[in-house]
Amino acid sequence: MKIAILPGDGIGTEIVAEAVKVLNVLDLDFETGYAPVGGVAYAAHGHPLPEATLTLAKQADAVLFGAVGDWRYDHLARALRPEQAILGLRRHLGLFANLRPAICHEQLAGASSLKPELVAGLDILIIRDSTGDVYFGEPRGRRVATDGHFPGQDEGYDTMRYSRPEVERVAHVAFEAARRRNRRVTSVDKANVLETSQFWRDVMTDVGRQYPDVALDHMYVDNAAMQLVKAPKNFDVIVTGNLFGDILSDEAAMLTGSIGMLPSATLNASKQGLYEPSHGSAPDIAGKGIANPLATILSAAMMLRFSLGQPEAADRIEAAVRQVLANGLRTADIYSEGTTKVGTAAMGDAVVAALMRETAVH
Ligand code: NAD
Repeated sequence: MKIAILPGDGIGTEIVAEAVKVLNVLDLDFETGYAPVGGVAYAAHGHPLPEATLTLAKQADAVLFGAVGDWRYDHLARALRPEQAILGLRRHLGLFANLRPAICHEQLAGASSLKPELVAGLDILIIRDSTGDVYFGEPRGRRVATDGHFPGQDEGYDTMRYSRPEVERVAHVAFEAARRRNRRVTSVDKANVLETSQFWRDVMTDVGRQYPDVALDHMYVDNAAMQLVKAPKNFDVIVTGNLFGDILSDEAAMLTGSIGMLPSATLNASKQGLYEPSHGSAPDIAGKGIANPLATILSAAMMLRFSLGQPEAADRIEAAVRQVLANGLRTADIYSEGTTKVGTAAMGDAVVAALMRETAVH
């Protein structure tokens, strides 16, 4: 197994170091290679995604990514900004399925903006196509309208479209993920209004026939947005397109109350994946040793489950994180009265210690 490790900017280096600590105590056989990405790569090589970094990523089974973004590079042309590295990796590796779990650990339910009983124990997975839809559809642009409500006036326009293979491949990711969970998939669309959505729904239904052991239902996106705040625990896996997924995954992330806890993965057809925390490079706290490394540690667990064929090791990391939270350890972002505040390295050490204790018991 080869893992490309790209720590990136801001808190990236600090949080990735903790995830690597955790991977190293698992007694698994893997090779790692490090490369710069984002602002640090621009500073050293004049590009946020240098050729050598891309080659390392392409040759790896999985990429463990920290975060990119640095205000010092905000003046650069868009193509050279740190954030472009992620888009470049997605494009070059063909990563199309973005997986974002929204998990609310019992002990952190008080941090959510919803009532604790609605979110305590929440464990849902949002799978979003991340390369298609109205975000990439052509034609797009500005023009003078020749029809519509105001012919002769300026207008902006985009194209929403999905091809059968695009919907099929993300559907398979969703059904396969559901098989490892509670075997329920909710496909979210707007089929009552949009042709593209009706097509999406038809293809989802076709693919669903290949998974008779997984229950498929369909929900309109407006209702899904409501249900996510009304009864989020009713969902298992949600699969949706790029536009709806963009919005729903952020909504779901907020249910858990703590951005420092949320991992993510983006996969391609051969299960190669990019694994990163859902948050950014947090320049306001970079270098202070107070960032929460748990989203990155949980991203490493997803990497073991989805790209490296080590689901038991993934389960062990997740159990160790739960144990550390149950023991009352908290980084500043999730701290509440009566718990023990720790820094980035101490949180990583605590997860390592929990894993080693568990190994000693078995
Ligand atoms: P951010 O996620 O970096 O930070 C938002 C807030 O959350 C900040 O107050 C930060 O301190 C806090 N925070 C984030 N992660 C944390 C953690 N692990 N522990 C504790 N607190 C944490 O978002 P932003 O401030 O809007 O963006 C900062 C930079 O990150 C920008 O340059 C942006 O473009 C970039 N960004 C990168 C990614 C990525 O690499 N995938 C994603 C989002 C934003």
